[in-house]
Amino acid sequence: MSEHAPLAPSSSEQWGHCSGSVAAQADMPDLSSEQAREGTAAHWVMSETLLNHQDTTRGGWLACHQFIGSKAPNGVIIDDKMAEGAQVHVDDVLEVCWRFNALPDLLIEHRVRMPRIHEQNWGTLDSALYLPDRALLFIWDYKHGHREAKPDGLQLFDYLAGLAEKFGINGELDRQTRVVSRIVQPFCYYARGPVREWAGFLSDLRGVWNQLYAKAHEVFAGPTLSTGPWCRDCKAVGKCSAARRAGYNYIDMVNEPYAMDAMDAADLAVERGILVDGLSTAKARLDAVEDELQHRIRGGQVGTGLALETGSGRLGTPGPGPRPGVSVRCRCREGRGAYTHANLGPGAKGNPAALEGHNGKAHPAPRR
Ligand code: SF4
Repeated sequence: MSEHAPLAPSSSEQWGHCSGSVAAQADMPDLSSEQAREGTAAHWVMSETLLNHQDTTRGGWLACHQFIGSKAPNGVIIDDKMAEGAQVHVDDVLEVCWRFNALPDLLIEHRVRMPRIHEQNWGTLDSALYLPDRALLFIWDYKHGHREAKPDGLQLFDYLAGLAEKFGINGELDRQTRVVSRIVQPFCYYARGPVREWAGFLSDLRGVWNQLYAKAHEVFAGPTLSTGPWCRDCKAVGKCSAARRAGYNYIDMVNEPYAMDAMDAADLAVERGILVDGLSTAKARLDAVEDELQHRIRGGQVGTGLALETGSGRLGTPGPGPRPGVSVRCRCREGRGAYTHANLGPGAKGNPAALEGHNGKAHPAPRR
C-alpha cells in the first residue's frame, strides 16, 4: 500500500463533494507551505509524546516542551508554538484515557482503511479510542492552522468509517455506539476553547458515508465538478472551469425583469450561507489567478493590463504614462508610491534586486 491514498481522508472535503478534484489536482505540484510543514512537525511531537506515555519503556519525553529545539523527521526544528499546540492535543487525549483507564487501547497515528467507501480510501488518523464495553468511540484530529475546522467534517467521518471497519461495528452495533469527534485547534480562536466536539451515534453517519461512497466511485467513473468552500484548498482552483464560472455568477446580471425581494430572517440566513460559500470559492479562484499572473508578469509576459507591486499590495492597475513592463512599489524606508522601471531590459524583469531600485531617479524627500 503506497503512502498517499488516491482518496485520502485529508482531502475528503474536496473529493467527497467534487469528484473531479482528484483528476484536476493529479498533475499539480505539491507545494507544501511552511505552516503545513510546521503542522506536520507538531503532529510528530504529539504522537511521540503520547507513545511515550503509552509505553514508558521507550524512555522518551513525556511533555511536549521537552522536544523544543529537536528536529522532526521532516527537518523542521521544534519551537515553542509547535510544542504548545501539541500539548493541548496530548492533554485532551490523556484526560479521556485516564478517565476510562484505557491508555493501552489508544490508537496513535494509526492507519485505517475504508473499503466500505472505496478500496482506494485509507489514511492515518491522529488519535482514537474505542471502548466496546461502553459502546463509546472517540476520535481526535489536530489542526495547527488558524482557519476553523469542523469536528463534523468529512475527514473525521471518513476515518470513523475506517474505525467501524477495524472494530467490526456492524449495522446493529452502530445504532448503539456513541461517537465523540474532536478537533483540537489551539491557534484558531474559539470562544469555548481550543477543542471542539461533535457527538452522536455512529449510525448518524450512514448518510455521509453514502455520500462519500457515491463521490468516491464517481472519481474513477465519470467525475464531475462541484464548487463550494472546499475549492479553497484545491490546487486546481486556478485552472478549473467550474470555479471560474462560479465566480462569474457573482458578476452582473443584465436586462433582468424588474423584481425586488421581500426576504424574512430565514431567507436571509439561507442567502448568507450561499454568499459565504460563494465568496470562499471566488476568493480561492482570485488568489490562484493572481499567483499565476504574478508568475507570468515576472516571466516577462505583457498584455495583462496589470502591474506588479512588491510592497504591501499584489496586483493593481498601472498608473498613467508609458509602462514598458513591470512597475513595482519601492520597499525602502523612505519610499513612497510606485516607481516605473522604464529602463529595465527583459533580463531584469525577473530580477527582484533590479526591481527594488529607483530607476535612476532622485529619491523623494522623506516625510516629516
Ligand atoms: S476548484 Fe473546486 S470545483 Fe474545481 S476541481 Fe477543485 S474542488 Fe472541484
